[in-house]
Amino acid sequence: MDLSRFPRRNYTPFPTPLERAPRFSAALAASCPGGVGPDIWFKRDDMLGLFPGGNKTRKLEFLMGEALAQGADTIITCGAPQSNHCRITLSAAVREGLKCRFVIEERVPGSYSQTASGNNFMFHLMGIEAITVVPGGSDIAAAMAQMADQVRAEGGKPYIIPGGGSNAIGGLGYVACAQELQQQFFDQGAQIDRVVVGSGSSGTHGGLVAGFLGNHIKIPIVGIGVSRDPADQEPLVFKEAQAVADLLDVGLTIPRDAVVSVGGYWQPKYSIPNAAMVEAVQMLARTEGILLDPVYTGKIMAGLIGLAREGYFKPSEQVLFLHTGGLPSLHAYEDVVLGRVEV
Ligand SMILES: *Cc1c(COP(=O)(O)O)cnc(C)c1O
Repeated sequence: MDLSRFPRRNYTPFPTPLERAPRFSAALAASCPGGVGPDIWFKRDDMLGLFPGGNKTRKLEFLMGEALAQGADTIITCGAPQSNHCRITLSAAVREGLKCRFVIEERVPGSYSQTASGNNFMFHLMGIEAITVVPGGSDIAAAMAQMADQVRAEGGKPYIIPGGGSNAIGGLGYVACAQELQQQFFDQGAQIDRVVVGSGSSGTHGGLVAGFLGNHIKIPIVGIGVSRDPADQEPLVFKEAQAVADLLDVGLTIPRDAVVSVGGYWQPKYSIPNAAMVEAVQMLARTEGILLDPVYTGKIMAGLIGLAREGYFKPSEQVLFLHTGGLPSLHAYEDVVLGRVEV
């Protein structure tokens, strides 16, 4: 798929590592029925640029490319109080010499604190220009449009990036990731049987589905929902994958059954900790020295662990876990991930 005709900024001057996780695989197998489990690989998208980067970095390469091509001077985006997406967007804006404003959605009532650590601290350190906090369930698109009007009234030129950077343009970042993986599978002789990826605002999962199908990579992808069960999540991802394919204009129709997600691991609520997340964060830290985060990758890995224990994978299966980042929010949940408070 030809990505070269889209404006793009390059924030990571190297492919992120594709690596095995032998100590974690052994620990996981020991906890699976019969003592056998899948062989786990990591795609280290937690090492992307705009450090500490994550999946939003790939989407922003194309989104910022378009913003700059349109002559924008102010980026507007939205997210939760500990949004990685907002932090990485701000980082990209600073790098490009642009201003940046956020609409923060307080999805968990009372969860926004101006002095919170983690990503919120970094918003202020990197000089966020304005933050508007709105209650969960608000019309976020309308709030961002209003913010854009304000920027225009002040003589600026706004560019709005949707939640998670998940539109067709942002999804191109994960088509690029699919192509990077295809080359790495070849170079490293990796015979991957399945990919496990987080599924939230859908740009990562949807972009990857479009990229795999468009590049004839016949490896099934399973998304672990971070905020929705399959009945609500899969239609979102399906729509995103088709929008990405349409933007690329390669005549690709996404089969509905190419979009598979698993629910149950994000409960009780988006961003609220659960015991399986704590186990996953501790297990990866203590077997591989890999840090997961409490809101996304901890729950996504809890999904992989849960699926392995219920026999979802063949015992010898080579499973690739896409590590999407999220490191800063770990600091906002230190007592939880150390097991000092019950969840
Ligand atoms: C945003 C995010 C996700 C979810 O990706 P989407 O493209 O929104 O589905 C997963 N992991 C981390 C660390 C994130 O910040």
